[in-house]
Amino acid sequence: MMKPVTIGILAVQGAFIEHRYMLESLGARCVELRNKENLAIPLDGLVLPGGESTVQGRILRDEGMFGILQQKIRDGLPVLATCAGLILLADHLSNDRASYFQTLPVTVRRNAYGRQLGSFITTALVKGIGDVRMNFIRAPYIESVEPGVDVLSVVDDHIVAVVYKNQLALSFHPEVGQDTRIHEFFLDRVRKKKG
Ligand code: GLN
Repeated sequence: MMKPVTIGILAVQGAFIEHRYMLESLGARCVELRNKENLAIPLDGLVLPGGESTVQGRILRDEGMFGILQQKIRDGLPVLATCAGLILLADHLSNDRASYFQTLPVTVRRNAYGRQLGSFITTALVKGIGDVRMNFIRAPYIESVEPGVDVLSVVDDHIVAVVYKNQLALSFHPEVGQDTRIHEFFLDRVRKKKG
């Protein structure tokens, strides 16, 4: 029997439902996080989905969720962040004055592939997983990383997946399509942490 785990999925904006379906298909219990009250539920993991980071950041602050989530991440809650979620975690944004949780020591470029035409699909190697079909949707990429950040994938000389301590962050959208390996990799990390 797999250990039962509860994953909180930030559900204030963006592509959260696909993460929920995928994680539930893998046996995880999911809770959608929309307000401060939802954050009282004990979580084993957290998903920060793609969407629009400026909107997500604003709602997080308006709802009083920002500081609570930031503390949970600092305290070691396993996180899977995709796209806008990566932007929320980054220490620095190279082309935006905003900053959010600043728990991941990397510099990220928003809308790095061009604003509207920057969506594409490619296949590339993710360390520890294998070749993965990657959906990029007005995606950011990681320009540079600080020591201690493990680079898992590079596409066209740009870093698109990293692990740092409890945080797994991706430029692309692993919730699109049928491939569940990234979510399985995340759930393994969650279960290991739970002990
Ligand atoms: N362009 C979005 C942002 O800057 C991210 C895109 C996405 O999450 N697919 O927040």
